[in-house]
Amino acid sequence: MARRKKIYEGKAKILYEGPEPGTIVQYFKDDATAFNAEKKAVIEGKGVLNNRLSEFFMTGLGQIGVPNHFIKRLNMREQLVRSVEIIPLEIIVRNYAAGTMSKRLGIEEGTQLPRPIVEYCYKDDSLGDPLVTEEHIAAFGWASQQDMDDILSLALRVNDFLSGVMMAVGIRLVDFKIEVGRVFDGDFQRLIVADEISPDSCRLWDIETGQKLDKDVFRRDLGDLKDAYTEVAKRLGVMPKTAAPITKPTLIN
Ligand code: 5GP
Repeated sequence: MARRKKIYEGKAKILYEGPEPGTIVQYFKDDATAFNAEKKAVIEGKGVLNNRLSEFFMTGLGQIGVPNHFIKRLNMREQLVRSVEIIPLEIIVRNYAAGTMSKRLGIEEGTQLPRPIVEYCYKDDSLGDPLVTEEHIAAFGWASQQDMDDILSLALRVNDFLSGVMMAVGIRLVDFKIEVGRVFDGDFQRLIVADEISPDSCRLWDIETGQKLDKDVFRRDLGDLKDAYTEVAKRLGVMPKTAAPITKPTLIN
């Protein structure tokens, strides 16, 4: 088989040149990292689950008209996506306080926020993805005002969609992170959702028990990450046929 050209290797994914111009093959690794890669592990099967889950969310978003990079799944670990010019921002939407917001503002984790709050972080691992304001974004030219309007609209639409899908399977969408990229269609450019949407980039809590079903299981040593992601995939009906069944539920309070 011909070797593909690797474009980029990140913490959880590898990007290869796609078969057609303007396409990329996105490969999901089993690597889990946290705290800016200070904590690392290989969680066998995580990549397969995230490939499926990201496909599920991106396909659903496409069906309700939220533009995104997903084209098709290629195999257990790879999907074909549109190549984008990534905006160097992590766009975080929060419905309940948790994580850095709780730390920064002293709000107890799990407190419902008065409305969804959108935050922006500058994508730079060497700086630890610092929180920035729209002033920084405009002044440093990372995105235009029109881009910011589009990003806010995309982020809130993704939030409404994901919250509903999760609620239907008994999961609370606490918060999530998306990335957005620019694509060029002839003379027009527009922004679309890119990267991935998976339990690596969301906080997902069981509505009844509060059990964490996301990467905090790894960050905070709360149990078996694969079991948590498998539970999400199983509830959403996107469990890969070959994935091992869950042996026991990990109940964490
Ligand atoms: P926090 O700012 O509380 O650490 O994270 C808020 C949300 O964004 C969480 O759902 C978290 O998983 C996600 N998030 C923030 N930064 C990153 C990142 O660098 N990578 C990934 N995958 N998710 C992130």
